[in-house]
Amino acid sequence: MPLKPRSESKELIIMRFLNTRMVLSTKDKKRYSNLEKGYQGEVRFDQLTANLQNDLYIINDLCLEFNNSEFQIDTLIISQETIYPFEVKNYEGAYYYESESFYSKLTKEEIKNPLDQLKRSSSLLRPLLKKLGIFLPIEGQVVFVNPGFTLYQAPLNAPIIYPTQLITHMGKLNKTPSKLNSRHKKLADQLISMHQSESRYSQFPSYKYEQLKKGLTCSGCHSFAILVGEKKLVCEKCGCEEDIESAVLRSVKELKLLFPDRKITTNGIYEWCNVIASKKIIRRILMANLTSVGMRHLRYFV
Ligand SMILES: [Zn+2]
Repeated sequence: MPLKPRSESKELIIMRFLNTRMVLSTKDKKRYSNLEKGYQGEVRFDQLTANLQNDLYIINDLCLEFNNSEFQIDTLIISQETIYPFEVKNYEGAYYYESESFYSKLTKEEIKNPLDQLKRSSSLLRPLLKKLGIFLPIEGQVVFVNPGFTLYQAPLNAPIIYPTQLITHMGKLNKTPSKLNSRHKKLADQLISMHQSESRYSQFPSYKYEQLKKGLTCSGCHSFAILVGEKKLVCEKCGCEEDIESAVLRSVKELKLLFPDRKITTNGIYEWCNVIASKKIIRRILMANLTSVGMRHLRYFV
């Protein structure tokens, strides 16, 4: 079990909502798709680290700051003698390495060099650990988790784990003798407490309530292709089913995240959900699950 589990970033969740409810620019669409793919890759890596039996601390998704510089570590593993930060990449397709840069083989487009990202995060992690009184060596690695990834002309000694090496590498981590003590635990707790849940580099396209498409969406595939029955929603696209109550509450959460300043009212949620036939149903769900403030037409929910 990881000491800190991974959850979807607020940036990913908001971009997903916006992608459903408005037309994103090509650039934003690409960024959103990269966020989704990146997250899937991290989850794929988590499935491997979850099988480690050795005495190790696994901390997923750390966003830290040192000297006013923010840096992210996709997975950090603490062992008795070594700290392992991993930069996880879910790139798919063929790439090549040339003059310390990565390029897509197909488009020749340069992509962000993950080795640079790793170097940067390690160079900030080192002094941070020193400040905490920890002098263990740091062995960072870039992990390519997608089996459809190929890298041509890769430097032989680069700290890279390829998809074909994942299993062996996990085996190595499992077998290297490790016995953790209270100092390791203290370090893990300190790092987790320093985690910043919101990156200041999150970017969102500008959006307004009026421009977003209203309606309940499917909890599985996020589409609007739902049929509303008496008690349940059924998605025509993926077959996913959900209770109306849970769908409405999910929608309330979505509205709150997109518009934190907007008051949650029966009328507001009725309009936002769009497909629920009666306001009474909405009111009943809100009354039963949220705290109501004020009376009658001034009533809102928190
Ligand atoms: Zn669906």
